[in-house]
Amino acid sequence: MYFGAIEAGGTKFVCAVGNDDYEVVERISFPTTAPEETLRRAFAFFDRFDLKAIGIGSFGPIDVTPGSRTYGYIGNTPKPFWGKFDLLGSVQRRYGLPAGWSTDVNIAALSEAAVGAGKGLDSVLYLTVGTGIGGGAVIRGRILEGFSHPEMGHIRIRRHPLDFFGGACPYHRDCLEGMAAGPSIEARLRQKGGEIDPDHEVWDYLADYLAQALYNYTMTLRPDIIVLGGGVMKSPALLPKVKAFLPELIASYVEIPPVDKYLVHPQLADNAGIVGGFILAEQALDER
Ligand code: ZN
Repeated sequence: MYFGAIEAGGTKFVCAVGNDDYEVVERISFPTTAPEETLRRAFAFFDRFDLKAIGIGSFGPIDVTPGSRTYGYIGNTPKPFWGKFDLLGSVQRRYGLPAGWSTDVNIAALSEAAVGAGKGLDSVLYLTVGTGIGGGAVIRGRILEGFSHPEMGHIRIRRHPLDFFGGACPYHRDCLEGMAAGPSIEARLRQKGGEIDPDHEVWDYLADYLAQALYNYTMTLRPDIIVLGGGVMKSPALLPKVKAFLPELIASYVEIPPVDKYLVHPQLADNAGIVGGFILAEQALDER
Protein backbone atom coordinates (compact mmCIF):
# COMPACT_ATOMS: atom_id res chain seq x y z
CA MET A 1 0.00 0.00 0.00
CA TYR A 2 1.14 3.50 -0.79
CA PHE A 3 1.12 6.98 0.65
CA GLY A 4 -0.65 9.58 -1.45
CA ALA A 5 0.43 13.21 -1.57
CA ILE A 6 -1.21 16.31 -2.99
CA GLU A 7 0.73 19.51 -3.41
CA ALA A 8 -2.05 21.95 -4.14
CA GLY A 9 -0.51 25.08 -5.57
CA GLY A 10 -2.35 28.13 -6.81
CA THR A 11 -1.24 27.48 -10.39
CA LYS A 12 -0.36 23.78 -10.38
CA PHE A 13 -1.59 20.62 -8.66
CA VAL A 14 0.92 17.83 -8.12
CA CYS A 15 -0.34 14.39 -7.10
CA ALA A 16 1.94 11.47 -6.31
CA VAL A 17 2.06 8.08 -4.68
CA GLY A 18 5.08 6.88 -2.77
CA ASN A 19 6.40 3.92 -0.81
CA ASP A 20 7.45 3.67 2.83
CA ASP A 21 10.87 5.15 1.98
CA TYR A 22 9.11 8.24 0.58
CA GLU A 23 10.23 7.32 -2.93
CA VAL A 24 7.94 8.58 -5.66
CA VAL A 25 6.33 5.64 -7.47
CA GLU A 26 4.31 7.78 -9.85
CA ARG A 27 3.41 11.43 -10.08
CA ILE A 28 1.26 13.68 -12.22
CA SER A 29 0.85 17.43 -12.40
CA PHE A 30 -1.74 19.63 -14.07
CA PRO A 31 -2.98 23.23 -13.89
CA THR A 32 -5.17 24.24 -10.95
CA THR A 33 -8.52 25.05 -12.57
CA ALA A 34 -11.94 25.04 -10.88
CA PRO A 35 -12.07 22.76 -7.81
CA GLU A 36 -14.40 20.11 -9.25
CA GLU A 37 -12.42 19.71 -12.46
CA THR A 38 -9.10 19.74 -10.62
CA LEU A 39 -10.21 17.09 -8.13
CA ARG A 40 -11.67 14.94 -10.89
CA ARG A 41 -8.17 14.70 -12.37
CA ALA A 42 -6.62 14.06 -8.96
CA PHE A 43 -9.11 11.30 -8.15
CA ALA A 44 -8.66 9.68 -11.57
CA PHE A 45 -4.97 9.40 -10.68
CA PHE A 46 -5.33 8.15 -7.08
CA ASP A 47 -8.13 5.70 -7.94
CA ARG A 48 -5.54 3.51 -9.67
CA PHE A 49 -3.61 2.84 -6.46
CA ASP A 50 -4.13 1.09 -3.16
CA LEU A 51 -3.54 3.87 -0.63
CA LYS A 52 -3.23 3.76 3.14
CA ALA A 53 -3.13 7.49 3.88
CA ILE A 54 -2.95 10.85 2.11
CA GLY A 55 -1.10 14.06 2.95
CA ILE A 56 -2.19 17.39 1.51
CA GLY A 57 -0.21 20.60 1.43
CA SER A 58 -2.28 23.46 0.08
CA PHE A 59 -1.90 27.04 -1.01
CA GLY A 60 -3.41 29.32 1.55
CA PRO A 61 -4.77 30.71 3.57
CA ILE A 62 -6.23 27.47 4.90
CA ASP A 63 -7.94 26.42 8.11
CA VAL A 64 -5.69 24.08 10.10
CA THR A 65 -7.30 24.63 13.49
CA PRO A 66 -8.55 21.28 14.84
CA GLY A 67 -12.17 21.53 15.93
CA SER A 68 -12.90 24.51 13.71
CA ARG A 69 -16.11 24.30 11.68
CA THR A 70 -14.13 25.04 8.54
CA TYR A 71 -11.12 22.83 9.32
CA GLY A 72 -9.73 21.59 6.00
CA TYR A 73 -11.18 24.50 4.04
CA ILE A 74 -9.35 27.01 1.91
CA GLY A 75 -9.90 30.50 3.28
CA ASN A 76 -10.33 33.81 1.51
CA THR A 77 -8.32 33.53 -1.66
CA PRO A 78 -8.50 35.68 -4.79
CA LYS A 79 -8.35 32.45 -6.80
CA PRO A 80 -11.79 32.00 -8.40
CA PHE A 81 -14.06 29.27 -6.92
CA TRP A 82 -11.51 28.12 -4.31
CA GLY A 83 -12.51 30.47 -1.48
CA LYS A 84 -14.30 28.51 1.30
CA PHE A 85 -13.78 25.25 -0.58
CA ASP A 86 -13.59 22.12 1.58
CA LEU A 87 -10.49 20.53 0.05
CA LEU A 88 -9.60 18.12 2.85
CA GLY A 89 -13.24 17.00 3.26
CA SER A 90 -13.58 16.36 -0.48
CA VAL A 91 -10.59 14.03 -0.40
CA GLN A 92 -11.71 12.31 2.80
CA ARG A 93 -15.22 11.73 1.47
CA ARG A 94 -13.75 10.10 -1.63
CA TYR A 95 -11.28 7.77 0.10
CA GLY A 96 -12.15 7.51 3.80
CA LEU A 97 -8.47 7.34 4.68
CA PRO A 98 -6.36 9.04 7.35
CA ALA A 99 -5.43 12.37 5.84
CA GLY A 100 -2.86 14.96 6.92
CA TRP A 101 -3.49 18.59 6.13
CA SER A 102 -1.19 21.61 6.18
CA THR A 103 0.15 24.42 4.02
CA ASP A 104 2.31 23.89 0.94
CA VAL A 105 5.15 25.70 2.71
CA ASN A 106 4.83 23.54 5.83
CA ILE A 107 5.05 20.27 3.91
CA ALA A 108 8.17 21.53 2.14
CA ALA A 109 9.58 22.36 5.57
CA LEU A 110 8.64 18.90 6.80
CA SER A 111 10.47 17.15 4.00
CA GLU A 112 13.61 19.31 4.28
CA ALA A 113 13.61 18.57 8.02
CA ALA A 114 13.12 14.82 7.62
CA VAL A 115 15.21 13.89 4.61
CA GLY A 116 16.70 17.11 3.18
CA ALA A 117 19.01 19.85 4.37
CA GLY A 118 17.79 19.60 7.97
CA LYS A 119 18.04 15.82 8.31
CA GLY A 120 19.16 14.86 11.82
CA LEU A 121 18.48 18.31 13.29
CA ASP A 122 15.81 19.07 15.90
CA SER A 123 14.63 22.47 14.75
CA VAL A 124 14.38 23.44 11.09
CA LEU A 125 13.06 26.65 9.62
CA TYR A 126 12.13 26.76 5.94
CA LEU A 127 11.51 30.00 4.10
CA THR A 128 10.43 30.29 0.49
CA VAL A 129 10.99 33.55 -1.35
CA GLY A 130 9.17 33.60 -4.66
CA THR A 131 5.91 35.14 -5.83
CA GLY A 132 5.18 35.44 -2.11
CA ILE A 133 7.15 34.74 1.04
CA GLY A 134 6.15 31.96 3.40
CA GLY A 135 7.83 30.07 6.17
CA GLY A 136 7.35 26.92 8.18
CA ALA A 137 9.04 25.59 11.28
CA VAL A 138 9.47 21.91 12.09
CA ILE A 139 10.42 21.05 15.64
CA ARG A 140 11.38 17.44 16.43
CA GLY A 141 9.59 16.24 13.32
CA ARG A 142 6.33 18.12 13.90
CA ILE A 143 5.05 21.19 12.07
CA LEU A 144 4.72 24.22 14.34
CA GLU A 145 1.10 25.40 14.28
CA GLY A 146 -1.02 27.08 16.88
CA PHE A 147 -4.32 28.87 16.38
CA SER A 148 -3.40 28.65 12.71
CA HIS A 149 -0.32 28.35 10.54
CA PRO A 150 2.48 30.94 10.76
CA GLU A 151 2.56 33.82 8.27
CA MET A 152 6.28 34.46 8.33
CA GLY A 153 6.19 36.49 5.14
CA HIS A 154 4.09 39.25 6.64
CA ILE A 155 6.35 40.39 9.46
CA ARG A 156 7.41 44.01 9.73
CA ILE A 157 10.91 45.00 8.82
CA ARG A 158 12.87 48.24 8.96
CA ARG A 159 13.14 50.08 5.65
CA HIS A 160 16.53 50.36 3.90
CA PRO A 161 17.41 54.08 3.90
CA LEU A 162 17.95 54.19 0.11
CA ASP A 163 14.90 52.13 -0.88
CA PHE A 164 11.89 54.31 -1.70
CA PHE A 165 9.63 51.56 -2.98
CA GLY A 166 6.22 51.70 -1.31
CA GLY A 167 5.72 47.96 -0.99
CA ALA A 168 3.56 45.46 -2.89
CA CYS A 169 1.55 43.69 -0.15
CA PRO A 170 -2.16 44.49 -0.62
CA TYR A 171 -2.70 44.20 3.16
CA HIS A 172 0.37 45.83 4.72
CA ARG A 173 2.21 47.55 1.85
CA ASP A 174 5.79 47.31 3.14
CA CYS A 175 5.85 44.08 5.14
CA LEU A 176 8.61 41.57 4.32
CA GLU A 177 6.63 40.03 1.44
CA GLY A 178 5.69 43.45 0.11
CA MET A 179 9.33 44.53 0.01
CA ALA A 180 11.25 41.35 -0.85
CA ALA A 181 9.09 38.91 -2.83
CA GLY A 182 9.45 38.58 -6.61
CA PRO A 183 6.70 41.08 -7.51
CA SER A 184 8.52 43.80 -5.54
CA ILE A 185 11.47 43.49 -7.92
CA GLU A 186 9.24 43.80 -10.97
CA ALA A 187 7.33 46.72 -9.46
CA ARG A 188 10.59 48.61 -8.72
CA LEU A 189 12.43 47.93 -11.97
CA ARG A 190 9.89 46.69 -14.53
CA GLN A 191 12.15 43.68 -15.01
CA LYS A 192 12.11 40.13 -13.69
CA GLY A 193 14.71 39.15 -11.09
CA GLY A 194 16.50 36.86 -13.55
CA GLU A 195 17.16 39.80 -15.91
CA ILE A 196 18.77 42.03 -13.30
CA ASP A 197 22.51 42.46 -12.94
CA PRO A 198 23.94 40.80 -9.80
CA ASP A 199 25.59 44.13 -8.91
CA HIS A 200 22.29 46.05 -8.92
CA GLU A 201 21.49 47.69 -5.58
CA VAL A 202 18.07 45.99 -5.45
CA TRP A 203 19.85 42.84 -4.25
CA ASP A 204 21.25 44.81 -1.32
CA TYR A 205 17.74 45.89 -0.36
CA LEU A 206 16.32 42.38 -0.60
CA ALA A 207 19.26 40.86 1.26
CA ASP A 208 18.86 43.48 3.98
CA TYR A 209 15.15 42.68 4.42
CA LEU A 210 15.71 38.93 4.36
CA ALA A 211 18.57 39.20 6.84
CA GLN A 212 16.29 41.20 9.15
CA ALA A 213 13.63 38.50 8.84
CA LEU A 214 16.13 35.74 9.58
CA TYR A 215 17.39 37.76 12.53
CA ASN A 216 13.81 37.84 13.89
CA TYR A 217 13.26 34.12 13.33
CA THR A 218 16.64 33.39 14.91
CA MET A 219 15.77 35.36 18.01
CA THR A 220 12.26 33.95 18.39
CA LEU A 221 12.78 30.30 17.41
CA ARG A 222 16.54 29.61 17.62
CA PRO A 223 16.43 27.03 14.79
CA ASP A 224 19.35 24.70 14.08
CA ILE A 225 19.22 25.55 10.38
CA ILE A 226 17.37 27.87 8.00
CA VAL A 227 16.59 26.49 4.53
CA LEU A 228 15.99 29.18 1.91
CA GLY A 229 14.00 28.13 -1.16
CA GLY A 230 11.87 29.72 -3.87
CA GLY A 231 12.61 31.30 -7.22
CA VAL A 232 14.01 34.59 -5.91
CA MET A 233 16.54 32.77 -3.71
CA LYS A 234 18.02 31.25 -6.87
CA SER A 235 19.43 34.67 -7.78
CA PRO A 236 23.16 34.09 -7.29
CA ALA A 237 23.74 37.53 -5.74
CA LEU A 238 21.29 37.05 -2.90
CA LEU A 239 22.34 34.29 -0.51
CA PRO A 240 25.98 35.47 -0.16
CA LYS A 241 24.72 38.95 0.80
CA VAL A 242 22.24 37.55 3.32
CA LYS A 243 25.04 35.46 4.81
CA ALA A 244 27.15 38.60 5.17
CA PHE A 245 24.37 40.76 6.67
CA LEU A 246 22.86 38.37 9.23
CA PRO A 247 25.90 38.07 11.54
CA GLU A 248 26.20 41.90 11.49
CA LEU A 249 22.61 42.21 12.74
CA ILE A 250 23.06 39.56 15.42
CA ALA A 251 26.21 41.40 16.55
CA SER A 252 27.40 38.37 18.55
CA TYR A 253 24.45 38.74 20.94
CA VAL A 254 23.62 35.06 20.48
CA GLU A 255 25.60 32.24 18.96
CA ILE A 256 24.50 30.73 15.68
CA PRO A 257 26.03 27.82 13.74
CA PRO A 258 28.69 28.74 11.14
CA VAL A 259 26.74 30.81 8.62
CA ASP A 260 27.47 28.49 5.65
CA LYS A 261 25.86 25.66 7.60
CA TYR A 262 23.09 27.81 9.08
CA LEU A 263 21.73 29.35 5.85
CA VAL A 264 21.40 26.82 3.05
CA HIS A 265 19.51 26.09 -0.15
CA PRO A 266 16.95 23.25 -0.13
CA GLN A 267 18.15 19.76 -1.04
CA LEU A 268 14.93 18.28 -2.37
CA ALA A 269 14.09 20.82 -5.07
CA ASP A 270 11.05 19.74 -7.07
CA ASN A 271 10.01 16.87 -4.82
CA ALA A 272 10.04 18.74 -1.51
CA GLY A 273 6.27 19.22 -1.33
CA ILE A 274 5.46 15.69 -2.43
CA VAL A 275 7.84 14.03 0.02
CA GLY A 276 6.42 16.26 2.77
CA GLY A 277 2.96 15.05 1.78
CA PHE A 278 4.05 11.42 2.24
CA ILE A 279 5.45 12.25 5.68
CA LEU A 280 2.25 14.06 6.64
CA ALA A 281 0.24 11.04 5.44
CA GLU A 282 2.38 8.76 7.59
CA GLN A 283 1.84 10.99 10.62
CA ALA A 284 -1.93 10.92 10.03
CA LEU A 285 -1.80 7.11 9.81
CA ASP A 286 0.21 6.86 13.05
CA GLU A 287 -2.26 9.09 14.84
CA ARG A 288 -5.29 7.07 13.89
ZN1 ZN B 1 1.84 41.69 4.13
